[in-house]
Amino acid sequence: MIALDEAKRFVLESLATPSPEMLALDDLLGCVAGEEVFAKESVPGFSNSSMDGFALRSLDTLSGSATLRIIGAVFAGDGSSPHVGPGEATRIMTGAPLPEGADCVCMKEEAILDPSGESVRIGRSFSAGEFVRVPGDDVKVGQVLVVAGDELSPATLGVLAGQGIASLRAYRRPRVGVLSTGNELARSLGPLGAGEIRDVNRPLLLALVKESGWVPVDLGIVHDDYASIKQRLSDGVDDCDAVVSTGGVSVGDLDHVKTVIGELGGTSARSMQVAIKPGKPFAFGVAGVRRVPVFGLPGNPVSTRVSFELFVRPSLRLLAGHRVLERPIMNMVLDSALPRKKDGKIHLVHVVARVHDDGVVHAERAIRHGSHLLSAVAEANALAIVPEGDGLAAGDVVRAMILDADQLSASTT
Ligand code: AMP
Ligand code: MG
Repeated sequence: MIALDEAKRFVLESLATPSPEMLALDDLLGCVAGEEVFAKESVPGFSNSSMDGFALRSLDTLSGSATLRIIGAVFAGDGSSPHVGPGEATRIMTGAPLPEGADCVCMKEEAILDPSGESVRIGRSFSAGEFVRVPGDDVKVGQVLVVAGDELSPATLGVLAGQGIASLRAYRRPRVGVLSTGNELARSLGPLGAGEIRDVNRPLLLALVKESGWVPVDLGIVHDDYASIKQRLSDGVDDCDAVVSTGGVSVGDLDHVKTVIGELGGTSARSMQVAIKPGKPFAFGVAGVRRVPVFGLPGNPVSTRVSFELFVRPSLRLLAGHRVLERPIMNMVLDSALPRKKDGKIHLVHVVARVHDDGVVHAERAIRHGSHLLSAVAEANALAIVPEGDGLAAGDVVRAMILDADQLSASTT
């Protein structure tokens, strides 16, 4: 067996360094920027009103009040406006350019409009700049808007759109091929034949890929047949940036996947027994000139999920340009025991983690346990890392990887 850290290092160090490409902004949510972006335009670009009201000269209100003659109205989008002279005001709408001569805005709610509509009474003195947005308030020319390595959030995309930027050097979403292998996997949705089971791993992995923001590519199901496995994995390597297959990496008579990954990956490939439970058998190699990683995960759905989290997700994050590869790991108080026996492995146990009223995160084992019981772990939102030893008792602190942070605050009842 090899240690989890060593297996992971082997995988991450085998990966090619990704290069950013020029990409359209509208598909970059969650992607990583590959260049620094400076502001070329100031935002706002011109002085404008932050309120609906009256544009006026602060000088006119020095005495503490004033009655001003209304000489016109300015709307957002107007290209020109009347010049505001002494004793004058214009009606002004939010976002409308501040007319020349005026230096502040009195909001509508604060002004008393004469019923004739021809004059307005201002009841206090104003300082220059009140309710006026000046050029560069939000963004100044030359300001850094994005740093290479930043993940593009909706707000960042908005800021870039505010500069008229429509494309950016960024890291493409990896295309991830997903293949299921096994003679037992039913090919149709009809009633199951003798010995058949339904393919759980392919939909599971396609969803995990999609949830991470990458592009899932369905490579289908193949039998435990050497030639078919080789053909389908090779096709995946040609078409995708990474390939994930499940089944056939153990020591069964028909476990050809690890052989094929060995051939595709050559000296880069390794078939491992990782010191973890579940997820011990694992094959990996990088194939072809593009050094496409091929992951051979074990067939048990829970093992598949755990191996995806431990090996595939960090690798794909690296290929997608992320600096932080790992899910967050935090300490939690155990509400139920996590017993285990010494076997030289780290145990990864699906738990339900919740923040309690006192702000402390508590974890409880997801109902049942076993590497083939996906339904038992479907409600879990964290993976407890139970170190080698005799297990942990209720009340002990455990380190756990957060799989779904949103669920941390879900109700426990
Ligand atoms: P293997 O890794 O091929 O030895 O498979 C281990 C276990 O996982 C066996 O019980 C398989 O039937 C099961 N299994 C393999 N592939 C899948 C799949 N795609 N969906 C559900 N179970 C699977
Ligand atoms: Mg199998």
